[in-house]
Amino acid sequence: MEENLNNNTDENEYEDVCFACRRPESKAGKMFKLPNQICVCNDCLHKTMETISQFDYQGMLNNPHVLNEIHNIEKNNKHIFPNISFINLADLQGEGGIPNKQKLKRKKKGTAAEPVLDIHNIPPPHKIKAQLDDYVVGQEQAKKVISVAVYNHYKRVATDMMDEIEIEKSNMLMIGPTGCGKTYLVRTLARLLDVPLAVTDATSLTEAGYIGDDIESVVSKLLAAAENDVEKAEQGIIFIDEIDKIAKKKDTHSRDVSGESVQQGMLKLLEGAEIEVPVGANSKNAMVPLTTINTRNILFICGGAFPDLDEIIKRRLKKQTAIGFNAELKDKYDKQKNIHNQVTAQDLKEFGMVPEFIGRLPVLFTLDALSEEMLIKILSEPKNAILKQYQKLLALDEVQLIFDPNAINAIANKAMEKDTGARALRAIIEEFMLDIMFEIPKDENIGRVIITEDYIKGTGGPVIEIRNNNSMAIGLPVTGHR
Ligand code: ADP
Repeated sequence: MEENLNNNTDENEYEDVCFACRRPESKAGKMFKLPNQICVCNDCLHKTMETISQFDYQGMLNNPHVLNEIHNIEKNNKHIFPNISFINLADLQGEGGIPNKQKLKRKKKGTAAEPVLDIHNIPPPHKIKAQLDDYVVGQEQAKKVISVAVYNHYKRVATDMMDEIEIEKSNMLMIGPTGCGKTYLVRTLARLLDVPLAVTDATSLTEAGYIGDDIESVVSKLLAAAENDVEKAEQGIIFIDEIDKIAKKKDTHSRDVSGESVQQGMLKLLEGAEIEVPVGANSKNAMVPLTTINTRNILFICGGAFPDLDEIIKRRLKKQTAIGFNAELKDKYDKQKNIHNQVTAQDLKEFGMVPEFIGRLPVLFTLDALSEEMLIKILSEPKNAILKQYQKLLALDEVQLIFDPNAINAIANKAMEKDTGARALRAIIEEFMLDIMFEIPKDENIGRVIITEDYIKGTGGPVIEIRNNNSMAIGLPVTGHR
């Protein structure tokens, strides 16, 4: 009985959708409920009635032959027309009508549409940054910029149109090498702010009508992340990664459907537009209900590695110094790390980004490549650091896991060689932790495992200690992690 009640409340959370025109109740008005949970809107019902009234069924029913035939059908349970049977609407939909994933969440009655983050509840930038510090190592400047931008953005959302001074949208463009924490920063932020987040890859986007996802599909992803709650989605964050891959193609004679035209297509989305998106699906088709989402308050964050940007910046800087006869300064730029910190909108334009596109991403900032020291910190310091995760997993088996500081250095060192930032860390750790996670639960006597530098380097095994404090170096198979 209780379960039944719960099911009902669950159902009530979603709007009904017209079976014929697929519009939700909020657009089509009150629905007529038919058996098998089929709903039809007022318009469609009237159209159907009109069509039926034009059909001369009276004349047909006055015909004695037809009447006789119908009588036979009733008797023999046969069909009126051979090979034609009437469709059971419920069969089309399956049991239970339109699935919830294709329905919009109903607005809760009585509670006015409150902003996701009330102006009094938006944490000030220093608090947002302090929260980020718990998870994201280094990247001080980026964390500062993003905290201020997010604070301003949600302040703008909350105040909206209080007066004629409209605050500009703080869409962002972040530049940083692979694995330096771009996606991670945005994910952490969205989680802390409790707003829905959609992460997309710009490489999958193409101009509408071509193979690939069309640009508006990013908005339907956000709607899905917001559990089909339009209001929530309208205040969410969309992160578009690999944005450098949609730079204008140089020397191309064919139509640039995945580069410049995608940038052009995104302009109105970034600025704020009413977008019609399918509910519960990635593409629009006749069987999916549609809804409208306004992107005015959606925060867009674009990220990319912009690999050749350093060369463009160096060239510009060298040109500037060439005017000042300063030859040794010119070499300095070649050696400088993180030169992308000095990026300007002009450099991005030269890279192939459309000026209007850059103009709609007013907050431009960079993330640094991760140094070995930062990798060491990433391994052990954040609240959900990867080493802490493994320690917790083994602690559940009452086994203490200890990482020798030299072992941590060796992991970071290995990761630096791979040149994929912090991404390499997980791959390396998973390789050597696999044997530990497989072997240790076999023996209940094991109380402690110490990961040594030798084990990481493949020249020895970890130290395994038995519960009664007898320690021994066990030759666990050291395969697979070299
Ligand atoms: P990208 O810059 O290519 O988007 P990611 O954000 O996907 O890189 O980083 C990959 C992983 O590395 C993240 O899931 C996170 O665990 C870790 N990571 C990267 N940078 C940092 C950082 N600065 N602090 C903590 N963890 C990080």
